[in-house]
Amino acid sequence: MPTILTSNVNNTFIDELPADLNEVNTPRQVEKACYSFVQPAIPSNPTLIHVSHEMATELGLEETESPEFLHVVTGKLNLPNSRPYAMCYGGHQFGHWAGQLGDGRAINIGEIEFNSNRWALQLKGSGRTPYSRGADGNAVLRSSIREYLCSEAMHHLGVPTTRALSLALSGDQVMRDVLYNGNPAEEKGAIVCRVAPSFIRFGNFEIFTSRGDHESLKTLVDYTIRHFYSELGSPSKETYIAFFREVMLRTKKMLLDWQRVGFVHGVMNTDNLSILGLTIDYGPYGWLESYEPDWTPNITDAEHRRYRYENQPSIGLWNLTQLANALFPLIKEAAPLEAVLEEYRSGFPVEYLEMMLSKLGIFTTNNNDQALIKELQVLMMVSQIDMTLFFRQLNSFDLEKSGEFILTITSTSYLTAEEFKPYQDRWEKWLRLYSNRLSVETLTTEERIRRMNRINPKYVLRNYMAQLAIDDADKGNYKLIDELYKLLKNPYDEQPEMEKWFVKRPDWAKDKVGSSMLSCSS
Ligand code: AMP
Ligand code: MG
Repeated sequence: MPTILTSNVNNTFIDELPADLNEVNTPRQVEKACYSFVQPAIPSNPTLIHVSHEMATELGLEETESPEFLHVVTGKLNLPNSRPYAMCYGGHQFGHWAGQLGDGRAINIGEIEFNSNRWALQLKGSGRTPYSRGADGNAVLRSSIREYLCSEAMHHLGVPTTRALSLALSGDQVMRDVLYNGNPAEEKGAIVCRVAPSFIRFGNFEIFTSRGDHESLKTLVDYTIRHFYSELGSPSKETYIAFFREVMLRTKKMLLDWQRVGFVHGVMNTDNLSILGLTIDYGPYGWLESYEPDWTPNITDAEHRRYRYENQPSIGLWNLTQLANALFPLIKEAAPLEAVLEEYRSGFPVEYLEMMLSKLGIFTTNNNDQALIKELQVLMMVSQIDMTLFFRQLNSFDLEKSGEFILTITSTSYLTAEEFKPYQDRWEKWLRLYSNRLSVETLTTEERIRRMNRINPKYVLRNYMAQLAIDDADKGNYKLIDELYKLLKNPYDEQPEMEKWFVKRPDWAKDKVGSSMLSCSS
């Protein structure tokens, strides 16, 4: 049986949307088109490092050890019945309109329909496209491992995300200046085959509106609704408003999930926001360890911290406002778009409070809950509490012995015992409040803990864990990639043999490049 069933390949993006008429692979402005056809670079010695068999099964790909599979996921062989292409999009980067961006280092190889699901496959790091501008179109092993592991981990955490099918070495060397500090060095090139129902971003719509090309805008909006929001009905002003509202709801849900698990995306530009509300483009992302609302892993953003943890929800709204502007020409009325934005603005804090309370095992709300959460956040911040460890260990909180929990709290703090002391009284007071609050909840302890354990993950891809896997992989040892991949498939389960990953960030990782500082340049 062939690896990829030709009959499952079913393109809609290139079949239904306008193509760039120029097929020469040179950097340029591409107008009145949603994409440009482009051949991936041929990798000199492609080798597979890891495959997500679960994703392969969802795609109907049973045979992943064949040369055909390897060659398709590294760009050496085209997906049968398909033609590779790069998408045209624009974007607001760090708050400013950046004009045309596009898939500069991603090449879509086509769409597969299987079990009534549609999946687009995209190779990240397969060489230059007309959208590469001055850059090389490549990706390095370290950033590819990070994308591969994290996108699958996020999926299993229940956070909407693009997925990953495979991680491979290209066999080519890539020049990178890890920290933009004038010290470029060669690194191993890699290619991730990522998968999502669609990779369309806010920026795909923005680019047309910025150029006054309302015809292409309408074509793309109608396509998106037809395939991904078909329940909203046929094209009309009302349908477009409903579409914007759905995107708002999905974006809001994604952001609530990010805040719940302590994920910091790092580059929430509008070209990195999916129209399907999926987490997309894993670059300089990170996980909160010590609870620092002000933290961003992205050194490119270190000064203004636009994309810091606590700012993510308002950036979500800012980005939705840009999408509203992009859709405006089809709706020609500001009020309904503003109403949708207002729904996010007023709805987010309410749902955020509910989400935070659910992390504490509180599933109703009352008048003082806002204060309970606020004080907890201040305490976590000043006493440097590890977010994941703290919330997970709340499952052992005993209402009758609330005072004893202070020992658990100190053990999750990055402060020394001496440094922690000034906060002890305040914590004890908070624990009493918490205990009183829990006592008026009606769930049985068992049911409360069961629910909390599905909300507070035990295992997340801490920055240092990814870095350890990267260091080993650089030396040709991929065992840790597999171990972490398997660990993160069940992030809410105890997995006693994996307890070594349920610990505070080790000291060596605190300020290490890759573990706490990353840049967009990978
Ligand atoms: P990002 O913010 O990393 O998602 O990237 C912003 C834009 O830069 C997108 O259009 C990317 O395709 C492009 N880009 C990033 N890295 C590269 C690269 N190495 N080669 C070509 N284009 C790139
Ligand atoms: Mg991007």
